[in-house]
Amino acid sequence: MKNKDVARLYSKYIMDTYTHLPISLVKGRESRVWDLEQNEYLDLFPGWGVSILGHSPSKVVSHIRNQAGKIIHISNNYYNHLQAKLAQKIVKIAQIDAKVFFCNSGAEANEGAFKLARLYGAGNRYKIITMNDSFHGRTLASLSATGQEKYKKDFEPLPEGFTHVPFNDFEAFQSSVDNETVAIMLELVQGEGGINVADYDYIQRVKKFCNERDILFIADEVQTGMGRTGKWFAYQNFDIEPDIVTLAKGIGGGVPMGAVFAKDKVADCIKPGMHASTFGGSPIACKAALAVVDTIMSKKLLNNVTDMSKYFKGRLLDLKEKYDLIDSVRGLGLMIGVEVKDKGKEIFEGCLANRLLINLTQGNILRFLPALNINKKDIDKAIIILDGVLKEVQR
Ligand code: PLP
Repeated sequence: MKNKDVARLYSKYIMDTYTHLPISLVKGRESRVWDLEQNEYLDLFPGWGVSILGHSPSKVVSHIRNQAGKIIHISNNYYNHLQAKLAQKIVKIAQIDAKVFFCNSGAEANEGAFKLARLYGAGNRYKIITMNDSFHGRTLASLSATGQEKYKKDFEPLPEGFTHVPFNDFEAFQSSVDNETVAIMLELVQGEGGINVADYDYIQRVKKFCNERDILFIADEVQTGMGRTGKWFAYQNFDIEPDIVTLAKGIGGGVPMGAVFAKDKVADCIKPGMHASTFGGSPIACKAALAVVDTIMSKKLLNNVTDMSKYFKGRLLDLKEKYDLIDSVRGLGLMIGVEVKDKGKEIFEGCLANRLLINLTQGNILRFLPALNINKKDIDKAIIILDGVLKEVQR
């Protein structure tokens, strides 16, 4: 079978929801992937930010294999000791007194957060303020929370109760609060919106205002969580404690998993029967996530994220000096964006043709979410490819 044979089957049997790159990936190891035709690629956007330890990391693989031979699924009406252990670890690294609910995706985690906020509002307050250019998922309520019209326009009417304000604008947030506002929700680094990092002072002012008005602070850490920014969670870069945090992507090291954790005052509003997820926190997913946490700790990957972030950004800034096309280099940890003035699509396609996998968001921002264990050698290789592509495209 060749890449194009798979494309043919897709056009007949798979719903046309994604724009596809013309390669079918069959194997991965660390920051490398191979397609059906044995071509090798350097992957700096592994699994859309999911494969945070690279592809098929050995400890995650052995945990999954081992668990599959014991028990694959347990109903959530029985205790699952792996869920308990994982929740304990998450609360420890979160450094917040919190309780966890496990689910399967980012959108599902966000739905859980909205329901928790509404429970906390006790029927009196239900409105949630979110940001322009945010992205919170594809279910109806998380679409409603998302601050980008292009994702919602064909699906209205969407659930009510979400207001959008400009990111990093405290006055806009403050003036949109009314007596029915129960929460604010934001990504501390907007991913899909173009790698926009929150200002430290803005977050301090928002959090102080929230504390004074008993407004919940919800951090969507689906993309920023689990070490991506050099801390376990992005909020730890801002010295705040959110009331609710949502996670997905990297937590299971490639196995579908989502989670929402909330401070006890919020978590304690929920009672049996109010929320559930059949597959949430399955033994396989929990075992994989435990391996992810252990690997990040034992290999000191948070330090690697900080070091490699500095190195990668430095090398990208060298390219900025060389090419007018580059407008800015920004990001936090290994969540890095390069804004180009023009020709984003050509650069993206040039990288693919040279076997470098990256992402293009908003049409002009090259997005990199490399594995947390990326090394200088792979970054250097990516820079050489990017340099060649930029030279070609700028001509
Ligand atoms: N929230 C953020 C910040 C995201 O980046 C994403 C996905 O990219 C989501 C939520 C939705 O996650 P999922 O696709 O797992 O539902």
